[in-house]
Amino acid sequence: MSEAFRGLRVYNTLTRRQEDFVPLDAGNVRMYVCGPTVYDFAHIGNARPVIVFDVLFRLLRHLYGAEHVTYVRNITDVDDKINARALRDFGGEIEAGRLTLNEAIRKVTETTARQFHADVEALGCLKPTAEPRATEFVLPRADGKTDMVSLIQTLIDRGHAYVAKGEILFDTASMPDYGELSKRRLEDQQAGARVAVDPHKKNPSDFVLWKESSAQEPGWEGRFVVEGREITIRGRPGWHIECSAMSAAYLGEIFDIHGGGLDLIFPHHENEIAQSRCAHGTPVMAKYWMHNGFLQVEGRKMAKSEGNFVTIHELLHTEKFGGRSWPGEVLRLAMLMTHYREPLDFSVRKLEEAETVLDGWYRAIGDVQAEGSDISSDMLRALQDDLNTTGAIAALHELRAETAKGDKEVRRRLKASGELLGILQKTEEEWFSAKAASAAVDPAAIEERIAARLAFIREKNFAAADAIREELSGQGVQLMDYKDPETGERRTKWEVKR
Ligand code: AMP
Ligand code: ZN
Repeated sequence: MSEAFRGLRVYNTLTRRQEDFVPLDAGNVRMYVCGPTVYDFAHIGNARPVIVFDVLFRLLRHLYGAEHVTYVRNITDVDDKINARALRDFGGEIEAGRLTLNEAIRKVTETTARQFHADVEALGCLKPTAEPRATEFVLPRADGKTDMVSLIQTLIDRGHAYVAKGEILFDTASMPDYGELSKRRLEDQQAGARVAVDPHKKNPSDFVLWKESSAQEPGWEGRFVVEGREITIRGRPGWHIECSAMSAAYLGEIFDIHGGGLDLIFPHHENEIAQSRCAHGTPVMAKYWMHNGFLQVEGRKMAKSEGNFVTIHELLHTEKFGGRSWPGEVLRLAMLMTHYREPLDFSVRKLEEAETVLDGWYRAIGDVQAEGSDISSDMLRALQDDLNTTGAIAALHELRAETAKGDKEVRRRLKASGELLGILQKTEEEWFSAKAASAAVDPAAIEERIAARLAFIREKNFAAADAIREELSGQGVQLMDYKDPETGERRTKWEVKR
């Protein structure tokens, strides 16, 4: 048996089978997960992959050693909606040369990215080893790390891409096994194509690598050599190329695990595979492809039109869901009560259950401290079985029952096992006092003060507005202003700082 195998088995979407996890290099286990697009607040569905792959990250660190795991999760800040806003808000400054496009995008996405970090920290997630932003990888880089334009050039050079109508397209027919992840065969797609084919595409499944921007749209100067001729297309990258570039930049041409939500299998991951394998001439992009199932809310698809759309921030800091706010740890445990590949029904009932469970576990651990070596072997075995978190939680329930006998050893085991799941990191006292403190603030009263402050700002009475900010700050409530993505109006979020 290879020493790189440490008992972990994972379901691989590529083979549709559960397999032994054997990393390419046990000294550096490498994982890439597609991250959020930062134009709006992340919703609770977005939290699922973040939490699921955080558990996997923690497990890999336990099995291989913390310094032997590299986890990359990108930030997608190249997006037509973001670009449009950058141009709308900072177009003049870009034109005058005072701001680059990347800097303008950074200004637009700063608040959202910061909010995302605050959200996932509250959910108990570790920081990934690297969190590259797409904007930084569009053009060739001074440090020589793989970038999108160079990767596209390689695809052109190797006969996998062509230029048509201001676009550079990936030529799917140039890749005999295109479609192996989603099990879609090219011939089926062609024969069955009922949608009108874009006349400039050779095949309907060909997808955009680079797209020309109109004079009104922001763009990067993409320089390419096509059939010996230099061309410049001022444009922007297609959706998939960023992940091929950033994964190669940090993890190399082939790495161990690639993850994301189920919806990304096609076309996003399929096309990442096509780009990376054809550019590098490799048999696989990642050895193991892992996908989390979708989250629903109270039995229905979550959607703004359904009226059940809820952000992580709203769950943590407002009374929108179930008439109260919820500790991040409750959201996290609720999420882990369903196996990651199953559909998950997110409900108030489930959050209440998770909170009751956590109360009981915290009462049992009190203030014990624990180490990795205290982790229960039943719990570890469950996680090694394709992240069976429901089995892991069952093991924690058993430990909890055992603590009734008063054995400190068992309490330590419960604490260490919880910590591996990213929960039970506090002491009993910290947990219960934090809950009491959050119950003491009155969100309705805070919203009222925020509305009053915004009214003062509109009247340019900044002294009065600042006084309200100070007053709330005195109660431990911190205000954060942001622009409404739709109307551009100033809005304010708040959170309790302890
Ligand atoms: P997006 O910002 O929409 O590209 O999504 C970021 C990540 O969240 C991707 O991995 C998606 O697959 C995942 N995701 C989006 N919606 C849901 C949902 N309702 N349930 C689970 N995962 C989701
Ligand atoms: Zn991706």
